[in-house]
Amino acid sequence: MLTIEGLSKTYAANGHAPACALAEVSFAVPRGGFVSLLGPSGCGKSTLLLCASGLLAPTAGRVALNGRAVTGPPPEMALIFQNAAASLFPWLTVAGNIRFVLRRKPGSKTDKEAVAAKALAEVGLSAFADHYPWQLSGGMQQRAALARGLAYGADVLLLDEPFASVDAQTREDLEDLLARVAAEQGKTVLFVTHDIDEAVYLSDTVVVLTAPPARVAATLAIDLPRPRDQVATREDRRFLDARKAIHALLRR
Ligand code: ADP
Ligand code: MG
Repeated sequence: MLTIEGLSKTYAANGHAPACALAEVSFAVPRGGFVSLLGPSGCGKSTLLLCASGLLAPTAGRVALNGRAVTGPPPEMALIFQNAAASLFPWLTVAGNIRFVLRRKPGSKTDKEAVAAKALAEVGLSAFADHYPWQLSGGMQQRAALARGLAYGADVLLLDEPFASVDAQTREDLEDLLARVAAEQGKTVLFVTHDIDEAVYLSDTVVVLTAPPARVAATLAIDLPRPRDQVATREDRRFLDARKAIHALLRR
């Protein structure tokens, strides 16, 4: 469904040598699939996600969604960034931020309020609908950004280290929320993380990237039953084997 073909990105730099962030990266995210992109910090994961969304033009290669070239964010795609604080409007409340992305969708005001309320309930923020983003903790801001992405109702979710800055307990809850919603609603997910365990826990497929410039080191199928469980899955032999294999790849 979402295909990345021979994608390269070199950042031009005034006065410096141009920085090559991606070198001929290819992989596909099948419809309804959950694919994680895993790699060391600075290897080019965010660059890849920005190119996949059409927000950033690649130097070479192509991104296609359902066979159509992606040159700007397609309407069926939602993006959830690492730094939610920077992507929420500070002058709108949490509910207002969600209503904002629904403004061009069909439906009455009441319907949209119901969609926003449901998304906020899913991330446990019902009591904070009327708060401003800057009145929330970092983890709560991240949950608000997730709620906004879910409320938007896109088939394809692109997430860039969305849980990197939340506490461990919240992180597990949000991982399970994302896995549940993705399964229930048949979402197609491309999830960026630098955390091996998180990638294995959530994904059907993990694409391991090399140190910069990023190339695909390996693509691993994760053979673990769903729904997954924070305790049982992480103790499963197959989880531990996948984790070990990826660890070895990243150490190369
Ligand atoms: P990651 O998300 O894996 O941490 P990034 O995609 O953010 O990595 O960055 C990959 C490389 O590209 C880094 O060396 C970074 O400094 C460089 N880079 C990222 N964005 C820009 C930019 N706008 N201009 C120049 N270099 C950039
Ligand atoms: Mg990044």
